[in-house]
Amino acid sequence: MKLIDLPYTSLEPVISDRTLSFHHGKHLRGYVDTLSKLIAGTEYENMSLEDIIRTAPAGPVFNNAGQILNHNLYFTQFKTPAQVGGDHPSWPAPTGHLVAQIVKQWGTPEAFQTEFEQKGVTLFGSGWVWLAAAQDGSLQILQCPGADNPVAHGLRPLLTFDVWEHAYYLDYQNRRADHLKALWEIVDWREVEKRY
Ligand code: MN
Repeated sequence: MKLIDLPYTSLEPVISDRTLSFHHGKHLRGYVDTLSKLIAGTEYENMSLEDIIRTAPAGPVFNNAGQILNHNLYFTQFKTPAQVGGDHPSWPAPTGHLVAQIVKQWGTPEAFQTEFEQKGVTLFGSGWVWLAAAQDGSLQILQCPGADNPVAHGLRPLLTFDVWEHAYYLDYQNRRADHLKALWEIVDWREVEKRY
């Protein structure tokens, strides 16, 4: 297992450099180091993260593999506010397949965003809120506790907000809702669309 490199150096002011450094350099690195030790010499050693998640029983291997996959998807779905603002709008182009499906199911992008934030705010304890796609292309918002994710449920993961406190506590303390609202400013919708 390898720690991914971040495709940017800063996501200020939405996520502080301090949070980014701890989140990637300590938390994610911790999951990578732990999983590497857990799977050495086992049937999981040469499996992809997705295959580990699909086959491992509930427990440390599943939890650490899930956390690595979740963070890899999380960290690579963002761009700096300047990149998002200068390069493309903070919402996918109206011609995109993904936004068309979002509008079909939720009516407006804003209605989708509101429900996504709400599901993040009301997820009890630590976990992840996800936009995921089924085989037929239909979308759903999932509340996943702990290390759980759409792959474990046969769905394709598209977008995720981390609601573990380590993702926001240094910057937003208990204000999880404010943090989630701010994250839209750095979502790289081209990457999310690519996953669809
Ligand atoms: Mn995290």
